[in-house]
Formats: sequence, structure tokens, C-alpha cells
Amino acid sequence: MKNILKQVFGITTTDIQKLNGYENFNYLISTESEKYIFKTYTSDGDLHDLIEGENEALLYLDNDSKLTPTPIPFLDGTYVKTLTIEGQDLTCRLLSFLEGQFLGDVTQSYELLSSFGTVLAELDLKLQCFKNYTIKARKFEWDIQHLSLNEKFIKDIPVAKNRALVKYFFQQFNENVTPHVNDLRQSYIHNDSNEWNILTTNNKISGFIDFGDLAYSPLINELAVALTYVCYDKGDPLKWVEPVIKAYNKIIPLQEKELSVLYYCIAAKLCISVCNSAHSKLNNPDNIYAFSSEKNAWNMLYKWIEINPIKAENQFRTAAGFDILKSDSLDNKVEDRFENLSEIVSLSYNKPIHMTKAAFQYMYDGEGNTYLDAYNNIPHVGHCHPDVVKAGQQQMATLNTNTRYLYDNLADYSKQLLGAFPKSLNKVFFVNSGSAASDLAIRLAKFHTKNDKLMVMEHGYHGHTQNGIEISDYKFNNKKGEGQKDHIIKTVIPDTYRGEHTNNDGTAGEQFANDAVNLLNNESIAAFISEPVVGCGGQVPLAKGYLKALYPIIRKNGGVCISDEVQTGFGRLGDYFWGFEAQDVVPDMVVIGKPMGNSHPMGAVVCTEALAKSFEQGVEFFSSFGGNPVSCDIGKAVLNVIKEEELQQNAKNVGNYYITLFKDLANDFDCIGDVRGSGLFIGVEIVKDTISKTPDYDLAQHIKNELKNNFILISTDGPFDSVIKSKPPMCFTKENAKKVVDAVRLVLEKYEIKNS
Ligand code: PMP
Repeated sequence: MKNILKQVFGITTTDIQKLNGYENFNYLISTESEKYIFKTYTSDGDLHDLIEGENEALLYLDNDSKLTPTPIPFLDGTYVKTLTIEGQDLTCRLLSFLEGQFLGDVTQSYELLSSFGTVLAELDLKLQCFKNYTIKARKFEWDIQHLSLNEKFIKDIPVAKNRALVKYFFQQFNENVTPHVNDLRQSYIHNDSNEWNILTTNNKISGFIDFGDLAYSPLINELAVALTYVCYDKGDPLKWVEPVIKAYNKIIPLQEKELSVLYYCIAAKLCISVCNSAHSKLNNPDNIYAFSSEKNAWNMLYKWIEINPIKAENQFRTAAGFDILKSDSLDNKVEDRFENLSEIVSLSYNKPIHMTKAAFQYMYDGEGNTYLDAYNNIPHVGHCHPDVVKAGQQQMATLNTNTRYLYDNLADYSKQLLGAFPKSLNKVFFVNSGSAASDLAIRLAKFHTKNDKLMVMEHGYHGHTQNGIEISDYKFNNKKGEGQKDHIIKTVIPDTYRGEHTNNDGTAGEQFANDAVNLLNNESIAAFISEPVVGCGGQVPLAKGYLKALYPIIRKNGGVCISDEVQTGFGRLGDYFWGFEAQDVVPDMVVIGKPMGNSHPMGAVVCTEALAKSFEQGVEFFSSFGGNPVSCDIGKAVLNVIKEEELQQNAKNVGNYYITLFKDLANDFDCIGDVRGSGLFIGVEIVKDTISKTPDYDLAQHIKNELKNNFILISTDGPFDSVIKSKPPMCFTKENAKKVVDAVRLVLEKYEIKNS
């Protein structure tokens, strides 16, 4: 190589050192008096033109301050040439060498990051008058505005949960940035100011190298890239944006619309990094440089999703001297709501939360706060899961109609859904809510059995329709409720904590079942309906062996057995996909809802062929929206995500850990009477003391409210509203679980001190 360099540049090389490169090979060339960077690229036509463009930019920027490398001409005056080196044709060029320490090798002080913002803006200011049509026309993966070019790499990310996070931010980019791209000012930008492309001298930025990603793109993308690299290896990413933005803004004043997309552009840049790393790892595993930033990028992506975009935008705005965005007062919002809504449609908490957005297990309010959602089980696979959103969007833009027409989605989804049930449950009726499903289940049962009596569970809840209320002790037995109807037989909840029978080895289950049989008193019955874990009863799992003992008697008395899996279904319990499996029984009908559509309104009755056949003797069954193509595709996406992300297993792993943490807490605090449930369906009974088991409503409410003040959502339930309920989205992590239990511990410690 020394000879070639002598021949083409006329320099006498004393030393050659090979350097790291993303796709190309670079060499540090030393002569007696100078240092150079010799860059080589595997030849291809487009690349040659791009390198010419890059050189043009460097020549344009060339100045006394030596902030950027200077292209060194070949002896014939050209700057880029194809040379044959060691038998390989390579496109080559030579640049001057810039002295300095890499930003990645020094302590990044506020002052240094300020200098970074200033120098970056000065560079961008100069680039505003640069022109190169090859660069301008370039469409490539590393330009944030062309994020979609990276979609093809998502499949190369090996972990499903990571893929989902990336897909989420792709979708957010499409929703929040793409429509505004034409309104953003465009400029030539360096576009790759990572810590190994920035040089520092005496706590100041002294150089920018590697213009290989030069792009003509929205100017804000320059800051998106810069901030990504500044923040991605630090604890709190937002803490570091201020010096960079503030300094940059002094030289190039930023526009509000630019700051409004910055959160999503940073996320997009992180996605580009992890997508390309995953792709390189698969295709070029030896090039360690190609995925050197991957770990930091993933860390920051997982931190980024915990940041409310409003909070981020407000920090960007503050740094750029704009007032923060403020939402209307809560009082006004409450007033607005109840202008047309009845007060009976209640709000949670004394001071309600105004939600604006949600992602996976996080919910964002209008003030910039992020809540960890340890409560909502309806967004089963995670709030706004990208696969579910995409399924809905695509089908909504294609066809949405009703079951009176043939469309493939219905048969496909039915098959997939019923594939998750025991073989005897092979017919499905689609509706739009759990209430509609339990109402229909009661109709089916009555029609099939020609009986009227219904056995229901103490504290049970099944829906808000007339049938629903009549079978829901939780409602009809409420102080303001309608009372128990004559055709309802209410059985005692088989609760081994508070109930009469406590031996949960199967004995109590049988004893409770016997009590129910005695109540039934050999009467003909239409149905018995219960949840496998009674949610409104305070997350009470039916005592072991209960259904196995009771179901045969119900059937003997002409009734059908209905399991309400609205809360417990779809893998939430960890060990089982359906709650009835824990009791080793197969019901005649199953009511499903909530998680089925991940917050899209869906419900269904799944039943035996015999029940469906009987129902066919009656009037036509039609639901305008039940089983529509959009719902079917959403339902399919939910099932696919559960499988792909192994969410049932996650519920089991995280749930076991979560329960262990709560049990540890119970060892330390006498106010925790019982920790129960399984998977991500957990109840923690708050009592005055563990001997008397007197429910402590006040403390339970205090915990709920204090957790809300700490931005954690949980709820309380049970006959005394004294059971802490946690049933988070199934992507909940062990870290999330620990955060909740640590927060409860803190509340209890303070409470004990106050009351001692
Ligand atoms: N069954 C159970 C067990 C439920 O928890 C609920 C809702 N909380 C329903 C049925 C009714 O479902 P929906 O609110 O979708 O009508």
C-alpha cells in the first residue's frame, strides 16, 4: 500500500494503521510530518458519486479552524479514484487527519455538550448554502425521514418483545412525523454525530469527521441524531438534552413544529440503530463495529417508552426558550365531561387522571406524567400494541361489514380462537362486550334447557345488561341494587381465606360444592355461571376441586355450566390459558371479552355444538358488529402476539416473582392478610391485622391513592373494597413488579410511622 500511496498522492508513508469502519476500511497513514486518513470502499457506481458529493461538502466547509477533514487530491488533481489494492478494485480517497480526543473518550460535561450544540449549529448554518444533487436525491436507511426503509430489518431482531417496541415507534413515526415532514425545514446535515465522529480538545468540540451519512433531510433530524448519541449511554436521557438544544438554538433558532416531532425522531434514530445492528449481526457477524451502539440504543429505547412524549417536548421547548405546553385544567375537563354524561359514569380517584396516550404497560397523562399500568387487563398484550393497531388499521381500510356476508376473516379467526379451547367447545357467537356475551350465554342456556333457574356466585359480576345484573351479586346485592330475583340461587364464594372451609387441598372445594348442592335442593336449573377467579370478590380463586365437584350436579339437574373468562382468559393466569383448566373441568359455555380485542370492543360465547343446535331452533341471531372483519383481524393479532411474545409464560414468570415479592411484604407487615391469584391476576387483602382479618378499607384506599401519586395504577375491589388488585398488561416485567411492590412497601412504612 505504501507504494501505491507514493505513486498516486506522492506521499512517503512511515506507518499504516487499520481503523474500524462500518462498511468500509479506513487507514491512519503517517508520514514524517503529517497524518492522513486513507479511506477505501468496495466499488459501486452510486457510491462513487456519493463520495464525490461528500468530498464536495468537505471542500465547501474547508476553513482555517480545521473543524472538518480536508480532502487531499491525487497527483492528477482529482479527489476520488478506483485503485486496485491487493487484487481488489476499491474506491479510494485521502483526507487530512484531525487531532483531538473522541467525545466518547472524555467526560461529557454540561460545558462540553453546550460546545457540541454550538459547533453543530455552526456546521449546519454553513451547510445551509451547500448544494449537491446526488446527496439531495439520496434515499437511504440512515436518514430518519426514510425510516420506513428499515422496516425490512425488523424481522432480523431476534426477540419478539424488542420487535414490538420497534414496530411501535415505527407506527408512532408514521402517525406523528410523516404527515408533517413537508412542513419541516430541510437542510444538508451531518447526520451521524455519534461520540466516535466528534473530536474534543480542552473541553470543547474541535472536529467533526465521517460525513458518510450526509443527508438532505429535515434539519431537526440533525439534533435527533446528536441527542440520541448524547443521551443513549446516560441514566436519565432527558437530563442531557438541555445544553445541546440551548446552544444550538442560539445559533439556529428552532421552530415549535420541529420540537413537536423531536421525541419521535429520536425514537426513530434509535430504531434505525437497532434494526441495522440486528441485520448486520445476521449478515456480517464479524464486524463488531456495526453493532457497537446496539446495547446503548436498546437501553435508551426502553427508557424512551417510559417517557411521556409531552414531557419530552416540554423539556425541548424549555431548552429552546418556549413556554411549556399546558393542558386545560382538570376541573374544566371534569365539567365538560359531565355536561353531557351522567355522574353515574364514574371516574377513578378523587383527582381523576386525564389520559392522552399509552404504550404497552405505560399510560401518559396530559401533564407529561407516565403511569406504570399495573391494573388494566383489557389492553392484554399492551396498550396500542403495534400488531393489533396495524391489523385494525389495515382491515378498516379494506372492508368492514357484518356476518350476513361471506368474508374469510370470520372463519379464519373462529378457527384460530376455537383452536385454543377443548374440542367439545366448537361453536362461537361473536358480540361486542363481556356483558353482551354473558347475556347471550344466559339466553342460550335457558333456550337449551327450557329451565329458568340460575345459580350464580356470591360477589360475581358478569355484565351490565338486564340478564347481566340479575346474575351479578356484585350489582344486585349492592346497597342501591335491585335485589336478588326469585329465579336466582346464589352460592357462597368458595374462599379459603375468609370462608367457612379453609383446607385448600381439595377438601374445602368439595365442602363448598356440597353447600352449593344443598342450596340447589335438586331443583331443575338452566345454568351455573362463575368466574374461575372471582374478580369483584377480591381476586378470589375458587377453592381447589370446587368446579369438579359442582359441575356434575349442575348437569344432573338439567343445567349447563358457564365459565366467565372475561377477566381470566387468554393466558393471564400463567399456568393456564383458561381459568377453568385450573379446576380440571370443561364447561359447556365460556364467556369471553375484555382482552380478546386488546381494548377493541369484542366479546363472544363459545359453546358446545348441542347448545348451538338448540339455539338454531329459535329466531335468527344477528349482531351488527359482532364478528366484523376488523374485529376478527384484531382478535387474530391478539392471539398471534400472545404466542409470538410468549405472554402466557411471561405472565407465569413475572407473576410468580410478583407474588413472591408481595408475600415477602406480607411477612413484614401485619396489614397484609392474604396474597393470592396466579400469573398476572393478583389480589392482596388489606386487613387491620392478620388474626382478626378485619378488612381495612381505609388503608387499601390509601395505598391505591398513594400509588397513583407515585404514578402507578392499581385498583381495589372485593366486598369491602379492601383488596389491592393488580392485573397489568401481559408485557409487564419483573422490574415493573418490583417497582409496584417497592412503592407499596414505602407507603406502608410511612403509614406505620404515622400511626405508631
Ligand atoms: N364478566 C366479567 C367477569 C367482567 O369482569 C366484566 C367486566 N368487568 C364483564 C363480564 C362485562 O364485560 P363488559 O364490561 O365488556 O361488558
